[in-house]
This record gives sequence, C-alpha cells and structure tokens, in this order.
Amino acid sequence: MDFLSKVSSKAGETIQTIKDSDITKKAKNYAEIPGLQVQIGKAEAAIKKAYEEIGEAYFNAHVDDETTEYEDLFTLIKAKKELIGQLKSEIEDKKKGDNSVEAEEGSVKSEKVCPICNHSMPEEAAFCSVCGHQF
Ligand SMILES: [Zn+2]
Repeated sequence: MDFLSKVSSKAGETIQTIKDSDITKKAKNYAEIPGLQVQIGKAEAAIKKAYEEIGEAYFNAHVDDETTEYEDLFTLIKAKKELIGQLKSEIEDKKKGDNSVEAEEGSVKSEKVCPICNHSMPEEAAFCSVCGHQF
C-alpha cells in the first residue's frame, strides 16, 4: 500500500511538472506574440510606404495624360492639392495678420479696431465711442 501510494504520488508529481512546464512554455509563447505583431506592423508600414512611393511616381509620370486607369483618384489628388495650396496661402495670410483684404470684401465702410477695448469703430472716428480712446 505504501509503495503504491508512493508510486501514484510520484506519478502525480510528474504529471504536475509536465503541466507546469507546459503552462510556462505557453505563457512564454504568448509573451512573444506582441513582439511578433510589432514586427508585422513594421513590415506592413514599410510596404505601405513603398506603395505610396510607387503611387506618387505613377501619379507624377501620368499627371499630364488625358486619361488614366485611375481617373477618380487622379481627380481627387488634384483637387486636394489645390485645396492644400489654398489652405497654405490662408495660413500665410493669417501669419501676416493681414485682414485688409477681408475687410475690403466684407464691408464698403472701412473700420478700425480700438486697441484698448477691441470694439470696431468707423475709420474716420477720432475717439473710441466705447472707452474714449483717442486714435
Ligand atoms: Zn475703445
């Protein structure tokens, strides 16, 4: 009886040991997955960048063609490039702080802004009618 229980206990330990190392191995394998996923992501990003370069080269090579295989995409790129150009010049205008064009377009009457209270006054006003600042 003693021998048998010893054997079965030993057997149990062995099974337990196998299970433990199995779990450890599994955990180790699982721990390696994020690293592999990062590698996949990097490889995919590299492919995407290469595709982009091919696409840009194709676009530049065929931009003046009358018809292309990718008419809609060419139209989209051209439209977006034009939009970017407009937005960039808008940014430049804002950097300059040049609102004179807008003011001229917006109203026939020219206005100035009081530096003290920021209220708009007619260009010809000598004093701010809100705070009394002398222009
Ligand atoms: Zn004022």
